[in-house]
Amino acid sequence: MSLPSTARVVIIGGGVVGVSTLYHLAKAGWTDCVLLEKNELTAGSTWHAAGNCPSFSASWSVMNMQRYGLEMYTTLAEDVEYPINYNVTGSVRLAHSDARMQEFEKVAGMGRYQGIDMKICSPEELQQYHPFMETHDLAGGLWDPVDGDIDPSQLTQAMAKGARDLGAHIERFCPAKGVSRENGEWIVHTEKGDIRCEIVVNAAGYYAQKVSEWFIPFGGRQTPAAVMAHQYFLTEEIPELRAWTQENGKLPLLRDVDSSYYLRQDTFSLNLGPYENTCKAHWITPDDPMPEDFSFQLYPDDFDRIEWHIEDAMARVPILGSQGVQRNINGPIPYAPDGNPMIGPMPGVPNAFEAHSFTFGIAQGGGAGKVAAEWIIEGMTEWDMWSCDPRRYTDYTDQQYCIDKAMEIYGNEYAMHFPHHVWPAARNRKLSPVHAKVVELGGQMDAFNGWERANWFAQEGDDTSEAATHTWDRTGPWTLRVREECEAVRDGVGVLDLPGFSRFSLSGDGAAEWLRGRIAGSLCKIGRMTLAYFADARGRILTEMSILRHGEEEFTLITAAAAQWHDFEVLKNALPEGLALVDRTRELSTLIVTGPKSRVLFAEISDGDLARGWLTHQQATVAGKPAMLVRVSFAGELGWEVHASFEDMPAIYDAVLACGAKPFGMFALNSLRIEKGYRSWKGDLSTDYTLLEGGLDRFVKFDKTQDFPGKTALLTERQRGVAKRFVQMIVEAGEADAPYMSTIWSDDAIVGETTSGDWGYRVGASIAFGTVKAELAVPGTELEIEIFGKRYKAVVQPDQPLWDPENARIRA
Ligand SMILES: Cc1cc2nc3c(=O)[nH]c(=O)nc-3n(C[C@H](O)[C@H](O)[C@H](O)COP(=O)(O)OP(=O)(O)OC[C@H]3O[C@@H](n4cnc5c(N)ncnc54)[C@H](O)[C@@H]3O)c2cc1C
Repeated sequence: MSLPSTARVVIIGGGVVGVSTLYHLAKAGWTDCVLLEKNELTAGSTWHAAGNCPSFSASWSVMNMQRYGLEMYTTLAEDVEYPINYNVTGSVRLAHSDARMQEFEKVAGMGRYQGIDMKICSPEELQQYHPFMETHDLAGGLWDPVDGDIDPSQLTQAMAKGARDLGAHIERFCPAKGVSRENGEWIVHTEKGDIRCEIVVNAAGYYAQKVSEWFIPFGGRQTPAAVMAHQYFLTEEIPELRAWTQENGKLPLLRDVDSSYYLRQDTFSLNLGPYENTCKAHWITPDDPMPEDFSFQLYPDDFDRIEWHIEDAMARVPILGSQGVQRNINGPIPYAPDGNPMIGPMPGVPNAFEAHSFTFGIAQGGGAGKVAAEWIIEGMTEWDMWSCDPRRYTDYTDQQYCIDKAMEIYGNEYAMHFPHHVWPAARNRKLSPVHAKVVELGGQMDAFNGWERANWFAQEGDDTSEAATHTWDRTGPWTLRVREECEAVRDGVGVLDLPGFSRFSLSGDGAAEWLRGRIAGSLCKIGRMTLAYFADARGRILTEMSILRHGEEEFTLITAAAAQWHDFEVLKNALPEGLALVDRTRELSTLIVTGPKSRVLFAEISDGDLARGWLTHQQATVAGKPAMLVRVSFAGELGWEVHASFEDMPAIYDAVLACGAKPFGMFALNSLRIEKGYRSWKGDLSTDYTLLEGGLDRFVKFDKTQDFPGKTALLTERQRGVAKRFVQMIVEAGEADAPYMSTIWSDDAIVGETTSGDWGYRVGASIAFGTVKAELAVPGTELEIEIFGKRYKAVVQPDQPLWDPENARIRA
């Protein structure tokens, strides 16, 4: 069959991910789709992958994707009538420390909730699973029953057959050469001719960055990625392993995550794959460009780099050293800056999607195809997939950033992500106008959408080492300082430098009416602001923005730093002609000045009308500079946000400090906001929940005349009864507060999950937010939250802020 000249969707790239996307589209009835592969299917990273298929992930959404894929792989061969070698052997994951055991406990809890029966093991139990292993130095480990390995080529070919059988078209040896746009359609150019299509998908693996450049003239960007070399080697046959296997079957996979390698049986040999911190990025200098074609090729062997791991693994499993090396594979693997894949809408480009930069594409390919197909067909996904959304990286990811982050994440592939730890590579991409001053004051910095903000302020003698943050506990060198910062906000006045608040201006005839038709609630009057929620068609929480109204048809919309490109598209994609929407994030910076003494402070340095009520805004001068004063406080005290130009902000910050405001950081802000019941973006607020499940009923105005996305679904849900409900809980926690996605128990059954947790210094308690079965969302209900494997009593609180329930302090 010749290359079709039209298609609904064209997928560029025939690795496991592109083919899975095609298969899932076809299964959903979208069979008028074409996949282009420059060489043979699997020619990129897929053919040489080790094929390991873990379900383990510290990320809820990635675990969802992997669990789905592994379930799918168990029936795929039968479903499409194509043989696949898929061995579900289970795996042991080893822990060298108590902190690692805590991580395993957390993931085992998430796994249990997803129906995976992971088990925490003693060293003796581990050895029963894997008798060739030394365990004397281990704290314990984790048994993952659904881990295993699959033949990556067979997996890809099976899905290709499934897609073809359903009517989709795969064109091999047909490189896409570029794209153009005509009358709202894409034209994908190939050596065999052009294909006109509605939608394009970039699934080009480690070539995805190159392919992304074709979309720059249409609003796109060079996708942030770097190519790392990953290698594993296979030993000669090991006689002891043969003998054991004949009696007992295949060994489970072994992952020594603290030593950073996997070790898997392959026939009667062993296969060792390290993630070394002496790692190597490829094709990063002008004299070493990415070749036009690297199909089915490998890098030269580089054993020096992994020597330490080989020795370590031989000490752990001595039979590994009993035989020589049969074969080594050293191949390219693409890394996005955080090591998560890119799946979702291509930022800035209409009808274009991304599905690339997979470091575990074999394990994730099945789920990734499902997610990509959902984005394409429905524009939304079953699970919230922000952790993989391409829009999470915005305008600051130059190539050096990508390389530095890829090196960091590759060398720490199995590292624990502790709540107070900050990854150090590739920093200082976007600086506040008062950055130097914040650092001088002791600011311990972190990056939020590239913007540097202080997490806490250290004082002389405080331990600011990275090592001190390697704990799951709430307590550390920051604790005393965060307490002092919170108390200053409670009793006096604090100042938080908050650069990078995403801000958009919206204006034009009909802007107000259009907004009313987008948000679930009502719009504020001129001079006021409101918190607004945007739902998707299912009534799920798409995003939250603060809307400030300057005139009948003139607004500023402010949203989280991380939400910048996501939220801009939420608005832009529905924007009618005639309205102007402009991203002004880089034009202004923000200070939060809050605490009972903030009015006295502003009386000294501002000519603003400080009697104006809560949720008002005004133009004024602060320290003689023009600024917008917004009477609101995410910290839940009397206070104002000061929005001013970059140029003027240093004078304002100095004046605020000179009036006695104490600098506070993001750790304190998180504690303060949780005491007020304020939700965090993509923690408490995500598309995993509807507005009603999220307890946002008071922000939904069912009786307004305008329709808005999700209205029908929410009305139906309200009529039917809401199944799950947001709750605030006080937790009798131990050393750690409840992390995201801790399971909530009642009478030995899981009844919900947490979405955030922290210590509240003003109320003196550990607080958790979560959703539970609606019948349990009753104040006083006693539940339990599993925190790192132990259950702690949690009591549901009334649906009002824990601190200052009447909001008297804010309104003062
Ligand atoms: C040594 C090694 C071991 C690994 N082991 C594992 C493992 O055990 N488990 C696991 O989950 N993952 C593993 N991986 C990672 C895994 O290989 C990748 O995540 C996965 O193969 C990515 O699949 P993909 O479809 O995104 O990309 P690819 O397989 O690279 O597919 C992209 C395809 O796009 C094609 N293409 C590019 N440009 C064009 C164009 N212009 N026109 C048409 N076609 C184009 C390429 O030819 C290629 O076939 C390993 C990787 C390496 C290097």
